[in-house]
Amino acid sequence: MPGPGEPLFLEDDTAAVIALAEEERDTCPSCGMPKAWCRDPANQFGVFEHYEETCHVTRLLADQRATWKDWPQGQQAATQLSARFREGREPDIGAGLGLPDVEIE
Ligand SMILES: [Zn+2]
Repeated sequence: MPGPGEPLFLEDDTAAVIALAEEERDTCPSCGMPKAWCRDPANQFGVFEHYEETCHVTRLLADQRATWKDWPQGQQAATQLSARFREGREPDIGAGLGLPDVEIE
């Protein structure tokens, strides 16, 4: 924390906030691309292609929510749903990070 009389935000902090606000302003909330690309009439046909991949957790949770269709609305809204790995199916937490094996004593 700054001391008495010192500014709470420095020039770099302000610049970073302005840069973030500009990026958010210029990014399409629908597709996530820069608006200059996704809204350019020159890109209307034949420029983009779709890409699909499935989040298996989202799929699992959506399928589970679908089984609640006969529950009272309040119960559905109040029920917290999340996913976790089944016991014995947990991933190697360091997989893909290129970390050296370290002996823990
Ligand atoms: Zn867009």
